[in-house]
Amino acid sequence: TTAFEIDDVSKVFVGKTPVQALANINLELRAGSFTCIVGPSGCGKSTLLRILGDLETATQGRVITNLPSSNVPKSAFVFQEHGVFPWFNVLQNVAFGEQMAAVGKREREEHARHWISEVGLTGFEQAYPHQLSGGMRQRIAIARAFATGSPSLLMDEPLGALDAQTRMLMQEQLVRLWEAERKTVVLVTHAIEEALLLGDQIVVMSARPGRIKEIIDVPFPRP
Ligand code: ADP
Ligand code: ADP
Repeated sequence: TTAFEIDDVSKVFVGKTPVQALANINLELRAGSFTCIVGPSGCGKSTLLRILGDLETATQGRVITNLPSSNVPKSAFVFQEHGVFPWFNVLQNVAFGEQMAAVGKREREEHARHWISEVGLTGFEQAYPHQLSGGMRQRIAIARAFATGSPSLLMDEPLGALDAQTRMLMQEQLVRLWEAERKTVVLVTHAIEEALLLGDQIVVMSARPGRIKEIIDVPFPRP
């Protein structure tokens, strides 16, 4: 089944000089797929992701979303940085992701601990973000997004701010979590190597206005 169907989407930001960010995007995202959107800076990747997540509206065309409806938001977001609350500790940050779900505090905490362990942060539950490295903070954001129980995960350069070694570890972790959970994942990156490593569908965009240049299907699990 299809999770997102992008039907002839264009986006123009109006202003003194209008900016056409996207032109006639047609794309289908299968439920449970891991799509990487790759392309040069400014080609409209973030805009497309934000339209998918309903944070932005298309100027033309539409997105048909077909995700299971429940009491949790349909999409959870992970951004490049600033994704954690500095005044919450790790446990509170991850548990916050589930606030929408109508579960009790104890159950929420237990669930948050599960996700903290999944991203390798057990033992740091009481630590505050400023006491942790950038990679650890990004793991908090990823744990929180998974903890929401949202059927889709929209990530905008989630590993962009990390050093090479941490980035590699996090790439492996993301693929492992995706394989276990089979959420519909969309990840924006400007690094083609990262896209090839992570996605089972790679959407290559050309420079502004963003158009789809190529769609590459990558077998998964990797041969
Ligand atoms: P990418 O994520 O590929 O770097 P973006 O989607 O952020 O690209 O931006 C695409 C283009 O749209 C860029 O030229 C950017 O400056 C412009 N843009 C993005 N958001 C806005 C906005 N809110 N208002 C005006 N222009 C914008
Ligand atoms: P990235 O390239 O990492 O996607 P940007 O630095 O292009 O991010 O954009 C950061 C934020 O500023 C986004 O929310 C985007 O929508 C907004 N933005 C980008 N370009 C413009 C612009 N020309 N005018 C207004 N807002 C913009």
